Amino acid sequence: MSTLWLVFAVFMAGYLINIFYITVLYHRGLTHRAIELSPGLEKCLAYTGNWLTGIDPKAWACMHRLHHIHSDTDLDPHSPVHYGVFGVMLGQLRSYEKILGQLIRGNPEYTEIVSDIKFDVNILNRKKIWIIPYLVHIALAYGIGHYFGSVWVGIAYFLGIMSHPIQGWMVNSIAHHSGYRNFNSADNSKNNVVVAVLAFGEGFQNNHHSRPASANFAYKAGEIDLGYGLCLVAEKFGVLKIPRGVGVQETELNATY
Ligand SMILES: [Zn+2]
Ligand SMILES: [Zn+2]
Repeated sequence: MSTLWLVFAVFMAGYLINIFYITVLYHRGLTHRAIELSPGLEKCLAYTGNWLTGIDPKAWACMHRLHHIHSDTDLDPHSPVHYGVFGVMLGQLRSYEKILGQLIRGNPEYTEIVSDIKFDVNILNRKKIWIIPYLVHIALAYGIGHYFGSVWVGIAYFLGIMSHPIQGWMVNSIAHHSGYRNFNSADNSKNNVVVAVLAFGEGFQNNHHSRPASANFAYKAGEIDLGYGLCLVAEKFGVLKIPRGVGVQETELNATY
């Protein structure tokens, strides 16, 4: 395999691990309960999510639920309405840090939003040692680069596994700014096809904000949600379940968020 293909393959491996955790487990599973995580998988998510992605699953779920409750209003943690398209990059980081701090302090305004999530904020954040996973991934990137004899392979690993800030920016910013709408929702959510491809379905924000209980973010013919494809594959392996049938599309939780 040429070095260029190796760089691409290693980047994609890291990217897919990150995207599986964020869009399938954190977002569709933990935050919206649009898919049912087995107790074992939820426990695994609680232990490994922060290590693999660098992002705390409970704080992510809290921030995302706040985004759904307050979409594109003053209280939205990451709307381009306030931060501007590029400012969302820093805005989402500041909001995440604030929410994490409030959850650790036990502020009920925040803890009640995620009271159904039975595990705590990760110990890495409670002990203020959140940097350790980043250092571990830098060490792994160095090892991978050394093993394959190319620093670019190591960099590709790091950029792929730590890609969430860029994915998040694309979804929170571009998919609330540019695209088409299938639903006349009260927010500015759009369906952006480029973001939908790159972020495995997350770019269909207008569909998702209008039908948060659906595991499939595609809605009409021609829309393809690759993240839903990951859900179907995971379901085949028996690690999660996609609710189907009348009545499952609007759970109490999803009616709220
Ligand atoms: Zn949104
Ligand atoms: Zn959502």
